[in-house]
Amino acid sequence: MSTIERLKTAAGSGGFSEDIGEIAPHLTEWRGKYSGCSPLLLKPATTREVSALLAICHETGTPVVPQGGNTGLVGGQIPFHGEVLLSTKRLNKIRAVDSHTPALVAEAGVTLAGVQQAAMGAGLFFPLSLASEGSCTIGGNVSTNAGGTHVIRYGMTRALVMGLEVVLADGRVLDLLRLLPKDNTGYDLKQAFIGAEGTLGIVTAAALKLFPQPKSRAVGFAAVASPAAALELLREMQVRTGGLVSAFELLPRVALDLVIAHIPGTCDPLSSPSPWYVLVEATAGEGVDLQALFENGLLGANDAVIAASEAQAAALWALRENISEAQKREGASIKHDIAVPVARVPDFLAAAVSAVLKLAPGARPVSFGHLGDGNLHFNLQSPRRGDDKRFLALWEGMQLLVHDLVRDFGGSISAEHGIGVMKRDALPRYKSHEELEVMRALKAALDPKNILNPGKLVPPVLKL
Ligand code: FAD
Ligand code: ZN
Repeated sequence: MSTIERLKTAAGSGGFSEDIGEIAPHLTEWRGKYSGCSPLLLKPATTREVSALLAICHETGTPVVPQGGNTGLVGGQIPFHGEVLLSTKRLNKIRAVDSHTPALVAEAGVTLAGVQQAAMGAGLFFPLSLASEGSCTIGGNVSTNAGGTHVIRYGMTRALVMGLEVVLADGRVLDLLRLLPKDNTGYDLKQAFIGAEGTLGIVTAAALKLFPQPKSRAVGFAAVASPAAALELLREMQVRTGGLVSAFELLPRVALDLVIAHIPGTCDPLSSPSPWYVLVEATAGEGVDLQALFENGLLGANDAVIAASEAQAAALWALRENISEAQKREGASIKHDIAVPVARVPDFLAAAVSAVLKLAPGARPVSFGHLGDGNLHFNLQSPRRGDDKRFLALWEGMQLLVHDLVRDFGGSISAEHGIGVMKRDALPRYKSHEELEVMRALKAALDPKNILNPGKLVPPVLKL
């Protein structure tokens, strides 16, 4: 029997598809930047099925690409070389909710929105929040160590995972689903699979930390003179609220202009323009007067507005959340998902803007994002009335310039989107020889036949 026939038999009816129409949406990522091909889509519904399928892949040396919601931004979920595709969409159960720990156990294919709802149903809160939350899956979030807007308060996905269930390359099931806040019994093995982008095992379920549901929220939008002033304001707001800031996002004026120009229904909430803005959110339980804390902290020294209703809060958030869309409507842009130590953001921005403008005079820097995490989406919009094609031809040179500068500032060339294929070949430039050796050793130990998402994340050794 051929390998494909063996996989189909193991998957059972309903557990696979060879239908071109059904497979097609899994082959291209949402921006159309990457596309691939696959002869077979596997759709296991249980961990045992994943295990049986991987045992066959391992025995026959058949490469397999895991895929959740297909919202990844670095091409990690795409089968570029005709690999078998394994979708986790049918691993879609909430297995348990534990309101004492508090935590829940979700299977890998549950959407992030599904996890948030399950938490809310139990009167609790799961803080991971991404614009893709209706489609992305918890298995994908774990495998990319997703970030989003609440990292400043709750951390990346890594900080929210208490345990994992993982199927190893040869089909063995590694059960690390412990609901233990404390467990000092040696290597924390689950960490190896978080952010591994499907190269070390297939995550089939995750135990996730939950939090008390916030009872109140304040959202403010303030003009600031500079990124350094924004950092000062962040410090002050953290002190005033006792660390309750749940989002602190930086926006340059050009981002606001683009949103107002392209997104109907948006407007400048302040009366006079400013070079920079911050969007601040804090949440609390009962008895904390966040509104008063915001009035003293934000309105005291700045031109600022504080949302008086949920609708106003949503309108302020829309200014931040629509920047990518507005950039797309405006034309071409070159993007970087980078992080530097929070304290060094102002100096990095000054150096990076001056360097990129030498390479691309007239380009419009749209540096926005998660200032509280030192993570900026350092984007360059093509020059006004410029030639988009000529501008995009600068992409590689621009990335090199920006990423080298990020390294010089002690930063990361991928703060939250991962490596996939997009940045794989850049890694040797920015990671030490020793780091790369340990990465390769882990890969070789856990996936000796290189069947799990081959060609992603781990750079090959270059033969001279
Ligand atoms: P996929 O895209 O299907 O896969 C991503 C990677 O994980 C691939 O390498 C895949 O092989 C692997 N994988 C998936 N499931 C498993 C599994 N069960 N076991 C092992 N490997 C697996 N990301 C952020 O961090 N912050 C943001 O704010 C953010 N905003 C976004 C906004 C939009 C509009 C979009 C489209 C994307 C955004 N992303 C963001 C990126 C993306 O949503 C995240 O990377 C998300 O975690 C991917 O989840 P997914 O289920 O779609 O995974
Ligand atoms: Zn982001």
